[in-house]
Amino acid sequence: MQLATDAKIYVAGHGGLVGSAIVRRLQAAGYRNLLTRSRAEVDLTDRDAVDDLFRAEKPEYVFDAAAKVGGIQVNERYPADFIRDNLLIQTNVVDAAYRAGVKKLVFLGTSCIYPKLAPQPVKEEYLLTGPLEPTNEAYAIAKVSGIKLCQAYRKQFGFNAITLMPTNIYGPGDNFNLETSHVLPALLRKCHEAKIGASPRVIVWGSGSPRREFLYVDDLADACVHLMDCYDDGQIINVGTGEDVSIADLAHLLKEVTGYRGDIEFDLSKPDGTPRKLLDVSRLTATGWHYRTDLRSGIENTYRWFLDNPESRRT
Ligand code: GDP
Repeated sequence: MQLATDAKIYVAGHGGLVGSAIVRRLQAAGYRNLLTRSRAEVDLTDRDAVDDLFRAEKPEYVFDAAAKVGGIQVNERYPADFIRDNLLIQTNVVDAAYRAGVKKLVFLGTSCIYPKLAPQPVKEEYLLTGPLEPTNEAYAIAKVSGIKLCQAYRKQFGFNAITLMPTNIYGPGDNFNLETSHVLPALLRKCHEAKIGASPRVIVWGSGSPRREFLYVDDLADACVHLMDCYDDGQIINVGTGEDVSIADLAHLLKEVTGYRGDIEFDLSKPDGTPRKLLDVSRLTATGWHYRTDLRSGIENTYRWFLDNPESRRT
């Protein structure tokens, strides 16, 4: 199935890192009937507001990229916010979409849904086979519920909701707030500011040994549109590169790209989180999709965006 370019497509969460990339991707492909609403216009945690939106606008397709997200520190500090907001947003969006007759919905999950000590690379079938990583358990439980919600609506109502599990995403439009961001934008900013301020060291949280997989956000958006077109299965599907790096190696790459010449130091009082998070992407590869942007080019693009958008550092 190829979506018609005049299909009415709602991108929930279009102001975020992933949602904005999906909008860019759809616009570049000629889709001209996109529906977006800012948080000020429609609060997705408010069921009535979401119902009103779907009833009034009747989108045909939905990308649900709306979520409360953040790095390891905020996830640990504010678990109630993460579980509550995500449960509300996804329940409101999926239920309203089904009741309004949406033809297909793409739900975005996360690789944190998998057990902390899952064998690597992580296959989709490892979901719910072991305890979760405690630092982001609340967020992960909400997202597991989102998957089960979509699968239950498919089973009971025949609703075509598909569930994508992206790995760690980065790119233009990321959150560069050092308290709330994920590792890549945080270290990019720290290296940049250390270079500008001629600071002798950059502090990296944890031991540097955890390994993470990073996917450039425009590649994720491309995969979302590709899977909206061709994947109609109720089983979850991983979206990643199938390659990972240690946090220490990532820090060195960020040093090179930003041109920072000082030292990297590790703060062992900060948590490492899960030791490794690498997705098995064979199910995705079998659909004919492969990532395009290697980590260095993606970081270079992100750094350019960061330099061109100084307001990204004020938040
Ligand atoms: P996670 O993938 O859910 O663990 O989330 P993060 O992207 O926040 O963290 C990934 C890893 O990078 C963890 O081991 C962090 O301790 C480590 N890390 C190192 N420096 C930083 C930093 O400045 N900010 C963040 N968020 N993580 C960092």
